[in-house]
Amino acid sequence: MKTSHDVLIIGTGIAGLSTALALPKSLSVLIVSKDYAWECNTFYAQGGVAVAKDEADIPLHVQDTLGAGAGHCDAEAVDVLCSEGPKAIKHLIDMGFNFDTDEEGNLLYTKEAAHSTNRILHAGGDATGRYIHLFLMQQLPFPILYNTQVTDLLIDEGVCYGARVFHNDTIFNLYAKKVIIASGGVGSLYEYHTNARTISADMQGICLSHGIALADMEMMQFHPTAFVLGNSVRKQLLSESLRGEGAMVVDEDGKRFVFDYDARGELAPRDVVSRAIFKHKQKTNKEVYLDLSAFSKEHFKQRFPSIYFNMTNIGYNVPEQRIPISPAFHYSMGGIKTDLNGKVSHVKDLYAVGECAHTGVHGANRLASNSLLEGLVFSARVAKEIMQSISQPKVQPLLSETEEVLMRENDKVLKNELRHLMWYYAGILRDPKNLEKARQRVEEMLILPIGKLLRLRLLVSREIITSALKRKTSLGAHYIKEEVTA
Ligand SMILES: Cc1cc2nc3c(=O)[nH]c(=O)nc-3n(C[C@H](O)[C@H](O)[C@H](O)COP(=O)(O)OP(=O)(O)OC[C@H]3O[C@@H](n4cnc5c(N)ncnc54)[C@H](O)[C@@H]3O)c2cc1C
Repeated sequence: MKTSHDVLIIGTGIAGLSTALALPKSLSVLIVSKDYAWECNTFYAQGGVAVAKDEADIPLHVQDTLGAGAGHCDAEAVDVLCSEGPKAIKHLIDMGFNFDTDEEGNLLYTKEAAHSTNRILHAGGDATGRYIHLFLMQQLPFPILYNTQVTDLLIDEGVCYGARVFHNDTIFNLYAKKVIIASGGVGSLYEYHTNARTISADMQGICLSHGIALADMEMMQFHPTAFVLGNSVRKQLLSESLRGEGAMVVDEDGKRFVFDYDARGELAPRDVVSRAIFKHKQKTNKEVYLDLSAFSKEHFKQRFPSIYFNMTNIGYNVPEQRIPISPAFHYSMGGIKTDLNGKVSHVKDLYAVGECAHTGVHGANRLASNSLLEGLVFSARVAKEIMQSISQPKVQPLLSETEEVLMRENDKVLKNELRHLMWYYAGILRDPKNLEKARQRVEEMLILPIGKLLRLRLLVSREIITSALKRKTSLGAHYIKEEVTA
């Protein structure tokens, strides 16, 4: 196997695949994926891709993104996302991708929470991510090394030379002139989450272990409507578009209680609806449901085929029968700090893009369906940036291939304890006392004899907790029960 390449891409979601597709075929590019290529959040994305419908909609898309981000977005990053979004979508369509259209071939746009207009494109009804992922995979001219987990970055004197990987029970180094992290978010740190099983914050942990800055790690988004009763680790998401198109959040008495918390009701931003459900459950001890009675069976089956299939399989007669719901961890606004071309601060030849990266585009709360667009827009920028310097010669030093023990016997028990701790103490409603308890327990776990992979999770958890402790007033998705004056 060739172990030296021009570009190494870590991750096969929309960010990794789109970056690869924007690079010339003449380069030697290797993409690594922890599991099968489709075991990523991109594959599970349902609702769609947000994009300004025309020139006049760009400032409104900017305004909605800034509004959802609670004043915490980087305005320049938002401007890039919204103004370069239409070009990125046009490029995807020109390559041959089909979004859903009406009978005359006009693109169908739907609405999701906190968007002031219908601007969400979708494909396969509610299978947008799966359709985009398959399409990008079909276009890919470069090889993917599956079942390959990156366990470290090869960084020497501020320059990145590649990554150490675990593949087929072997540890070895993969060298590259440029390394792109496109490894997604942090879902598996939480007990209830909607993310793919591969998404466990390894790369964010590796960055921390090299002193690379993460930013806004207290900003974790919880999706209000997940079906959490099933046994699977990844909880079934019930797309935001359901509420955008008429689904109601009700308690067991049929009361639409979200209006008691926010005048926008079910269409308030995600964090608001999540907290309303969480608080209502705590206050009343009542079960909460998604009521789908606004849909006819025929329309529901056609518009939301995946949700129809999944829920019917579990035994729910949808849309007639309402579905019990709970919020679940969904998306990380925080991530590896980069500039607007994906360059990681203070490490040469290292880039980050997609959900793992922090450009500041999502602020304190991501606007629904902006993340697939982020993957498309910022990957094009990373590829352009790389093309400008890839021809420069690079002398590779001799680097160690040895690795710490990755897993130890008791890790699974501690991992589950950590997930529980993060859900209850660093989740939807936070308070300084519980955050402090969580921090202390994480510190205790860090000095136990544990494997490296658990240590990486603990490092990222500690970062989330300490960032949350530092932010003393509520903002966006970061909500603290007791306000503490600084
Ligand atoms: C259920 C669900 C529904 C969603 N719906 C929408 C939606 O409708 N619209 C929208 O805009 N967003 C949606 N999102 C969010 C969006 O899907 C993600 O933010 C986006 O797909 C992230 O893309 P990515 O390429 O950055 O990461 P991912 O698609 O998550 O890919 C990460 C890749 O990195 C790999 N990886 C991770 N760690 C390692 C490692 N150590 N070594 C090697 N490989 C590694 C993984 O195997 C995977 O291939 C949804 C998310 C979920 C979970």
